[in-house]
Amino acid sequence: MSDASSLATDASEAATPAAPVRTVPRAGWHTATVVAVHRETPTASRLELDVDGWPGNAAGQHLDVRLTAPDGYTATRSYSIASSGPSSRVVLAVDKLPDGEVSPFLVDEVRTGDLLEVHGPLGAFFVWEPDGRRSLSPAGRVRPVQLVAGGSGVVPLFAMAQAHAAADDLTPFRMLYSVRTPDDVYFADELMALAAASDAFRLDLVYTRRTPDGWPTPPGRIMREALAAAVIPAADRPLVYVCGSTGFVEQVASWLIELGHDAQSIRTERFGGT
Ligand SMILES: Cc1cc2nc3c(=O)[nH]c(=O)nc-3n(C[C@H](O)[C@H](O)[C@H](O)COP(=O)(O)OP(=O)(O)OC[C@H]3O[C@@H](n4cnc5c(N)ncnc54)[C@H](O)[C@@H]3O)c2cc1C
Repeated sequence: MSDASSLATDASEAATPAAPVRTVPRAGWHTATVVAVHRETPTASRLELDVDGWPGNAAGQHLDVRLTAPDGYTATRSYSIASSGPSSRVVLAVDKLPDGEVSPFLVDEVRTGDLLEVHGPLGAFFVWEPDGRRSLSPAGRVRPVQLVAGGSGVVPLFAMAQAHAAADDLTPFRMLYSVRTPDDVYFADELMALAAASDAFRLDLVYTRRTPDGWPTPPGRIMREALAAAVIPAADRPLVYVCGSTGFVEQVASWLIELGHDAQSIRTERFGGT
């Protein structure tokens, strides 16, 4: 029997189609100009960057941001990319950890016109790339995709959902997204629009602390049985992407395995924390 420690974590199991975008990082660091900043949730900001020399990125990849203090001290953190494709425009969404070193600066201090150093794109395995309308093979070779997000872990999964819609890809996509309250939903309008626009994308929200008025279930963390009810069944052999805090990812992944999902079909990205 598999466990969460045997989850696929490298490119050797990758089954994604050929990349339309160059995804290998160029050496060194790029200069990114902040072209837009807005408050995404009460604790998070969305940053839109124009990155000099950016080679484009696939949905699900991340980059490193390096901040340098006047005395030369540097701090580097990874951030998933909410956008994808060949453009030099890169979208990030950063949640503020109040006692953190880097995230409070990115969320509260960064302004339009500021320059940041970024390195990437990074990550070859936690990616999804569209296969166009060929995805709906009657032979059933194409596997549905289940996305499972906790909090800011939605960032790379949103990039995948957007890439899916932009390509008019008919692979069945389903997203299960756990957030504290309705105010904490990242990309809320875009996600609702994606779900409304296509039968191939379904969005399921779980609220852990406060629900919208009239919500059918009380707030609470997602548990094993609720997870089983909300994800594409193991019998349909979905490719599953799970992203969020380390604790969230490991709990969800171990439940998925208990529910019969193949460990090699579960791709995970851990943001840290517990
Ligand atoms: C591949 C990857 C992609 C990521 N993408 C994103 C993203 O899109 N958006 C985003 O907001 N963050 C993302 N992160 C997390 C990010 O890299 C930082 O860890 C986060 O912003 C905290 O940095 P900090 O310097 O503010 O906190 P630190 O000074 O590093 O840590 C402060 C305290 O918070 C704890 N901590 C660190 N990270 C987390 C966490 N994620 N959750 C809870 N507690 C934590 C530390 O243990 C420490 O106690 C990603 C991480 C990885 C590895």
